[in-house]
Amino acid sequence: MNFGEFADTAAEIEELSADTEIAERVTTLFEQADSDLLVLARFVQGRVFPAWSSRTLDIGPNYCYEAIARAAGTNVSADDVEEKLAEVGDIGEVAASYDFGGQQGLGAFGGGSGAGGDLTVAEVADELDALADAEGSGSQDKKIDILFGLFNRADGDEARYLARLVLSEMRIGVGEGTVRDATAQAFDVPVESVERALQVSNDYGEVARVARDEGEDGLDSMDLELGRPVQAMLAQAGTVGDALDDWDGAAVEIKYDGARVQIHHDPAGLDWAASDETGANDSEPRETAVFSRNMEDVTDALPEVVEHVEQHLNAPAILDGEVVATDDGNPLPFQEVLRRFRRKHDVERAREEVELDLFAFDCLHADGRDLLRTPLPERHERLEDVLDAGVSELQISDDPEEIADIETQALESGHEGIMLKNPDSDYSPGRRGKNWLKRKPDVETLDLVVTGAEWGEGRRASFLGTFLLSARADDAGDEFETLGKVATGITDEKLADLTDLLEPHVRTEDGQQVEIAPEVVFEVGYEEIQESPTYSSGYALRFPRFVSVRDDKTPESADSLERVERLADEQ
Ligand code: AMP
Repeated sequence: MNFGEFADTAAEIEELSADTEIAERVTTLFEQADSDLLVLARFVQGRVFPAWSSRTLDIGPNYCYEAIARAAGTNVSADDVEEKLAEVGDIGEVAASYDFGGQQGLGAFGGGSGAGGDLTVAEVADELDALADAEGSGSQDKKIDILFGLFNRADGDEARYLARLVLSEMRIGVGEGTVRDATAQAFDVPVESVERALQVSNDYGEVARVARDEGEDGLDSMDLELGRPVQAMLAQAGTVGDALDDWDGAAVEIKYDGARVQIHHDPAGLDWAASDETGANDSEPRETAVFSRNMEDVTDALPEVVEHVEQHLNAPAILDGEVVATDDGNPLPFQEVLRRFRRKHDVERAREEVELDLFAFDCLHADGRDLLRTPLPERHERLEDVLDAGVSELQISDDPEEIADIETQALESGHEGIMLKNPDSDYSPGRRGKNWLKRKPDVETLDLVVTGAEWGEGRRASFLGTFLLSARADDAGDEFETLGKVATGITDEKLADLTDLLEPHVRTEDGQQVEIAPEVVFEVGYEEIQESPTYSSGYALRFPRFVSVRDDKTPESADSLERVERLADEQ
């Protein structure tokens, strides 16, 4: 296909506003694409390389202006191009405004937009490939030369979309969903099959080609490839209540405060990316590749992760996990990890300054088997089978107190909190679904008066354990109404202190039950306030947890029932 035809289509699409019309136009483009389908599925989204690829053109805007200026003629400079851009705000518009070399003469015969242009889509793709390949000294000049050559052969609309493509500013309103729908429509395959194939491959061009040439069966047989990253599964904020209401127990893990990594490892060599002509620019197949959350190749910046994997992983695998910066085993803020990710030079020195630890928490592929559709606990077992160090612990629980204890421990060891995962869930690349929840920190706390307690059992028999909480029911602080009991978020050491603090205020005892004079105020977190007949206030706190003793507060200044009612209404 001529690049001019693509440019005409892009111009038409840009005029459309309805998603369905855009999808129809892309569908027609795909139907007519022939051998250019792979490239067109990317170009139409403004991508030069497949979504999984870390490759970039690596050409700064100034060099692009330089190439445009050269093609525009001797009396135009890169500064002129930049000035014009500042005026009109769109590099496409600027490029289209010049009369480039290839246009001269041909335009005089009244060819109109796109006519006379002999530049093909395949040529543009090849040239941009060569541009990305240029490395080392003199590479910028080479890149400018290549770009100049392309602009020199481009007419108005061709130049417009070429400039936008090169600077990643296509903006004609074609997103991933449009390309997915157009692929399904053009080649008459179910959109679900296209979606799944995209999830495992991250390659819109390849998926479109398979849909056309091999149909639904071809799409369904597309698998993960060692060496080709997929999008990470994402989490949304949620509560223990959300998890336990909807799932059969929750898989609880520490939420590490680091940076996401996806690790691909094959002792026989990851030749997939290297052997593909549009793949990463490696000559030697590597055993291990590490990708960031955005699927950028960060292998060279993280040698200790590579070493760890090569030492402890005993099968070809794709792992998902978090890399945390530590100092003597204590977690450091995640900015430290990001600095390591960005490091290009002196990696060895950086490594001495900030140590990185891997915590792998998922396994997408192990020893020849894709595991995306395997439930989480089984994936985790496979992870433990193949990796013998650096695996996060997964605990399945349906007990809110146990979950709160795991969270307290995680926070005390300096981690960010906990993740709650649905034990029944698949691994869904790129999805921010409800199957992974990062537990929301308690937003609002209440300062409540302790009006009762229970002696503990067993190891905790000499401590007051569960504390009855009340809100103030009048202004004077004479009357209190109960609204919950708190037993979680308290270490053994803290229980001893609280017992010492409360014992002097015990009024009566009945077996394990103790009535306590309203003297001590606790700050308490919770997930929700529910209406409930269980307590005298008519409300109950869902998943209350101890935060601190409010030494500075008396019962008269504790939170009132009125505030509890207001918070309950606002939820
Ligand atoms: P956020 O960045 O706040 O959206 O939280 C989600 C991120 O937490 C993920 O993308 C991971 O990088 C990170 N994370 C830390 N620990 C875990 C874990 N155990 N499971 C999943 N993600 C985790």
